[in-house]
Amino acid sequence: MTATAVDFIVVGGGIAGLSVAYELAAEGSVAVLEAESAPGYHATGRSAAVLSENYGPALWSRLVTASRAFLERPPEGFAPVPLVGPRGALFLAMEHEKEALRDQAAGMAGRGAAVELMPAGDATRLCPVLRTERFALALFERDCLDIDTDALMTGYGRGLRARGGRLHTDARVGRLSRRAGTWTAVTAGGTFEAPVIVNAAGGWARDVAALAGIGPREVVPFRRSAATFDPPAGTDIRHWPMTFDVAETFYFKPEAGRVMVSPVDMAACEPCDAQADELEVAIAVDRIQAFTSLEVRAIRHRWGGLRTFAPDHEPVIGPDPAAEGFVWLAGQGGNGVMAAAAAARLAAGLATGRGVPGDLAALGITADGVSPGRPCVSAPEVPTEAA
Ligand SMILES: Cc1cc2nc3c(=O)[nH]c(=O)nc-3n(C[C@H](O)[C@H](O)[C@H](O)COP(=O)(O)OP(=O)(O)OC[C@H]3O[C@@H](n4cnc5c(N)ncnc54)[C@H](O)[C@@H]3O)c2cc1C
Repeated sequence: MTATAVDFIVVGGGIAGLSVAYELAAEGSVAVLEAESAPGYHATGRSAAVLSENYGPALWSRLVTASRAFLERPPEGFAPVPLVGPRGALFLAMEHEKEALRDQAAGMAGRGAAVELMPAGDATRLCPVLRTERFALALFERDCLDIDTDALMTGYGRGLRARGGRLHTDARVGRLSRRAGTWTAVTAGGTFEAPVIVNAAGGWARDVAALAGIGPREVVPFRRSAATFDPPAGTDIRHWPMTFDVAETFYFKPEAGRVMVSPVDMAACEPCDAQADELEVAIAVDRIQAFTSLEVRAIRHRWGGLRTFAPDHEPVIGPDPAAEGFVWLAGQGGNGVMAAAAAARLAAGLATGRGVPGDLAALGITADGVSPGRPCVSAPEVPTEAA
């Protein structure tokens, strides 16, 4: 079969793959190869879909800050509906966590975010069902946003096509090889060739690197569970903020007329079609009933999803030092939707050799800081026996 030759192959049709493909399509021809029959089936379709500048480690938070403008004011014609809407986020600290919360507030204010610190008891004006007696301090991030993930994915897909790029579904990459400066990717849906390949395979990123003969790389998926239930009849929950505790034992938010809750579990697992863990859902119910006056009578929907991390939880973006033309866009953890716009520009800049975009460099993002070659990611090779 003849191979389709392009300038860039992108492996993975989640938010990472579609967003970087959109950016790269401005530079050359792009083929996105997605294993499933539709884009966004895995982590991207299972997220809580919020943007908070107070969520995730330092470099991801900066990429979130740098993504806000795109989401609030996308390019002309990108989407017929707004990509984001108001939500607000509330973070609750116990007595011994007050200093940590104050530090977070100072860090956010330093990046220009609007933050309000208040005694925990005052937080009931934002979410009346909270039992605040166990908490001492609350931080309200007014500008936390709900993201319309479908509209964002559709916008990237449409923009990609308009720039001449193509998404190929049912195209799991099963073999990868490099000869004479060209990568060849073999899928059930055809063979593709390009000098540069971008690994945006989410929970499978390590496996795709292994196909390319790279490894081991410590970029590992963890399962998270979530569920929804009905609020009390007649309660208007639309304006409740996304509410977290600082110790990270639960969060909840309004979700299409229901309450979404997660016990913020993080169980190491193999890449797979992740399902909710029943015990974790029970823990989530227990916590929401302990920290609010809500009563969970029936779970309406439950699901699991993969969040993929490097050991330091920071981005894994840029060329792999062990393989020419092999570029990573992985390790998004819980920031992959909210930070996609800036992460995609960063990956495209590093894939094309243009380097870190100026606005991201100004935020302290460096190629070394996100490199897949940094020591914690490129795990030491297992020593071989002397012959
Ligand atoms: C419960 C939960 C809540 C979350 N909440 C938020 C939130 O509020 N905000 C936020 O920003 N993020 C959130 N996240 C994280 C976010 O969902 C992820 O960071 C993001 O979706 C990762 O996108 P991705 O494209 O890297 O991965 P994915 O969406 O998993 O895409 C990877 C794709 O690669 C494909 N693939 C794998 N191997 C191959 C192969 N060999 N060949 C071809 N294709 C392949 C897969 O089929 C998959 O479609 C949450 C995650 C979970 C689970």
